Amino acid sequence: MNEMTTISREQRPYSEAAKKALSRKPALFINNEWVASSHDATIPVEDPSCGKEVSRIVDASDKDVDRAVAAARAAFDDGRWSNLPPMVRDRTMHRLADLLEAHADEFAELEAIDNGKPKGMAGAVDIPGAISQIRFMAGWASKVGGETTAPYTMPAGTVFSYTVKEPVGVCAQIVPWNFPLLMACLKIAPALAAGCTIVLKPAEQTSLTALRLADLVAEAGFPAGVLNIITGNGHTAGDRMVKHPDVDKVAFTGSTEIGKLINKNATDTMKRVTLELGGKSPVVVMPDVDVAATAPGVAGAIFFNAGQVCVAGSRLYAHRSVFDKVVEGMAETAPFWAPRASLDPEAHMGAIISKEQHDKVMGYIEAGKRDGASVAMGGDAPSGNGYFVNPTILVDVNPQMSVVREEIFGPVVVAQRFDDLDEVAKSANDTAFGLGAGIWTKDVATMHKLAAKIKSGTVWGNCHAMIDTALPFGGYKESGIGREQGKAGIDAYLETKTVIIQL
Ligand code: ADP
Repeated sequence: MNEMTTISREQRPYSEAAKKALSRKPALFINNEWVASSHDATIPVEDPSCGKEVSRIVDASDKDVDRAVAAARAAFDDGRWSNLPPMVRDRTMHRLADLLEAHADEFAELEAIDNGKPKGMAGAVDIPGAISQIRFMAGWASKVGGETTAPYTMPAGTVFSYTVKEPVGVCAQIVPWNFPLLMACLKIAPALAAGCTIVLKPAEQTSLTALRLADLVAEAGFPAGVLNIITGNGHTAGDRMVKHPDVDKVAFTGSTEIGKLINKNATDTMKRVTLELGGKSPVVVMPDVDVAATAPGVAGAIFFNAGQVCVAGSRLYAHRSVFDKVVEGMAETAPFWAPRASLDPEAHMGAIISKEQHDKVMGYIEAGKRDGASVAMGGDAPSGNGYFVNPTILVDVNPQMSVVREEIFGPVVVAQRFDDLDEVAKSANDTAFGLGAGIWTKDVATMHKLAAKIKSGTVWGNCHAMIDTALPFGGYKESGIGREQGKAGIDAYLETKTVIIQL
């Protein structure tokens, strides 16, 4: 632990490109133009590594939202995007991906400054992930199609019936702060490929990369109004987007609490809804594993992105025979995960997004201790002006504790012992969530048996949080509705029309 106390957590100087992005006048991107808000309200942009305000963004008014929706509506209704040859949509999307690639380093730095995550991690995970979302979905622009299906009750040759796939329409897309650009691109890519038009709102804590993305949208050649990007608060601008009568679909990633609210609010106008919400993902370690190789893996499952991951492996279940060794092995990773300023090249874990979230995470740790949990690693916050939390393992916990039941969204794992497969399957499913789960074993039969028992949208074997744009992602139970990525991802932006013609 000594290594931790000697780390300097001073933020490093920003590059000229980052300074330029931070000094831009707060504005909204509507109809391929930067426009001023209808009012003067702005939101501060903070660097969580030092707790300082570094820029300001527009807090969009109702009028601003209406203007963006009107732009997207007009762009959808006249077919300027959906009627283009699919090849053109495909190529325009690839051009956007090319431009992102060309500016990858700048995007990684902006993400690090805005979110608090290590620049190295943003450069290795967030930015390439965002690019691959766009490239993969671009290909679907030319591959969606309907079917000709003979009716069941009518004689052959009396009718001609077929289905066509059509874009859903105007999409309101609302994304969170944990993977800002990646989440934005994961949302816009299938909608664009399908021929939809968009109003995108990044989280108020992390709008910098979405705003920089807007610069590239016009450059890539998207027609005006196809992708509008506005900034603002959730309960005002986000709420207006969700309730807007001219919006056909809402896609949201964020907390389960807000997801439930959005689902209710979207019902009056019967909007299509995709929700990717919270989790409390179990990680099961079987007795046969190589502990030395597994412990760093299960540590990474929770400490990656400072645990601010919807699929974070926040409930560890290690078999009684290996429990102590697994926890010891995880604790040995403390120097690797020691929190550092986001532009420190040595950083593997950065700061928590905000003071509010930092205090919430620390509050959970304190509640866990009060409830009788013991700290096997961390359990405190290191010094520094940023919102740092030391990676934490809590043991001696029970299923009633808030640290075991609730999503903490920080670098905190609760570790429990188990004896047999049925018992651990029951414990793993003892949650309102169902987003992800990890199983660590060399035994193929055990892997498959347990994978079948666990109720979650994704199950990882001997790895965690591996996400790929070709593979569907989403939640069981209160972790969401619908799937993103893969073919399911594009289907979520298409309506099916059945045509029946009497001959
Ligand atoms: P977190 O708890 O991770 O901060 P939230 O679910 O509060 O996540 O926010 C995720 C996104 O949802 C953000 O872009 C936020 O602005 C937006 N949001 C928050 N509240 C609402 C709301 N009532 N209606 C629409 N969007 C909202």
